[in-house]
Amino acid sequence: MNIKRNILLNPGPSTTTDTVKMAQVVPDICPREKEFANLMKGLREDLVKIVHGDLDKYTSVLFCGSGTLNIDVCINSLLAEGKKALVVNNGAYSTRAVEICQYYGLPYIDLRFPVDQLPDLSKVEETLKSNPDIGLVHTTHNETGTGILNPIREIGSLAHQYGAIFTVDTTSTLAMRPIDIEKDQIDFCMASAQKGLMAMTGLSFIIGKRELIEASKDYPKRSYYCNLYLQYEFFEKTGEMHFTPPVQTIYALLQALKEYWAEGEAAKWARHTRIFHALHDGLDKLGFKDAVRREWQSGLVVSARYPDDPNWDFEKIHDYCYERGFTIYPGKISGANTFRLCALGAIDEKDIQDFFVVFREALELNQIQIPVVYQ
Ligand SMILES: *Cc1c(COP(=O)(O)O)cnc(C)c1O
Repeated sequence: MNIKRNILLNPGPSTTTDTVKMAQVVPDICPREKEFANLMKGLREDLVKIVHGDLDKYTSVLFCGSGTLNIDVCINSLLAEGKKALVVNNGAYSTRAVEICQYYGLPYIDLRFPVDQLPDLSKVEETLKSNPDIGLVHTTHNETGTGILNPIREIGSLAHQYGAIFTVDTTSTLAMRPIDIEKDQIDFCMASAQKGLMAMTGLSFIIGKRELIEASKDYPKRSYYCNLYLQYEFFEKTGEMHFTPPVQTIYALLQALKEYWAEGEAAKWARHTRIFHALHDGLDKLGFKDAVRREWQSGLVVSARYPDDPNWDFEKIHDYCYERGFTIYPGKISGANTFRLCALGAIDEKDIQDFFVVFREALELNQIQIPVVYQ
């Protein structure tokens, strides 16, 4: 095996181990074989265990597609007739949920907060109180565009107090920051294989309450391929995905899960935290400023502001680093110029130290003042 190792500091897909890459090379198999269905059963249970869910109460449902598909499925499948969705929105990923409501023509409230601020819980409560027809509350755990960590437990308990289902986009925290589905008041959470689990793209999954999926059986059917109940029911009856699964991606995920359990939840979170601190240390030394208050950060994404230097050109810095095996990523805050360095993937502190050697070279070659300047 001689595959070049790239360090991806973008918010997913992440750097994978060689063993996960190689796990995709398997004898051809028809996914309708019992052998394959047995693999899926263990996989579905493992996903529930990652969020410490009770297997009698919680289940997981897999889909073929990227993580956005999960948001689509949850919203289009879990909103009862005559009910409204409330999106607690302080960033680009919650805005995606709002757009999904718009595309399906669903009634919704877009409760917006500034992207660098935590949602105001009293406003969330006021909205729930004055709109008894809210049937579903959705938010994003770690807004990957900025790295802000939202108070999901508090939002979830408000949702439940007012009789709504709580769906959380945990795509950029699951299998990194420990989650306890029950304690965190989550009815449905979600991710894709390529993020915290450090596997391949193309497979996404929703973990949630069986009871609520079963209750959604008679909700309006707004999509065929992306209906949660339909996919769940097929899994329960046959152990398989309704339509062709991404076979090799599933083998990679099975290997990634083995590696997840071997590393352990606490050790893995400690490693991501080490990387996060190394990213901050490196940026601090060069004088970069954060886009979000540090105590509000998820510990997984560092969002830094562009310096006010006439020579600063993100593309040039990006290209220099990219050619040397390090991928950095632009920010996702309209009206503010930022870039992001993320702490996910099969990497460690040493990779970040190596990255900063290259990053500093890129700044020096482009004659950007160090420490960087802000007006
Ligand atoms: C990555 C990510 C997604 C999924 O995005 P895709 O472009 O569909 O891969 C959804 N939500 C969050 C918070 C994410 O970080």
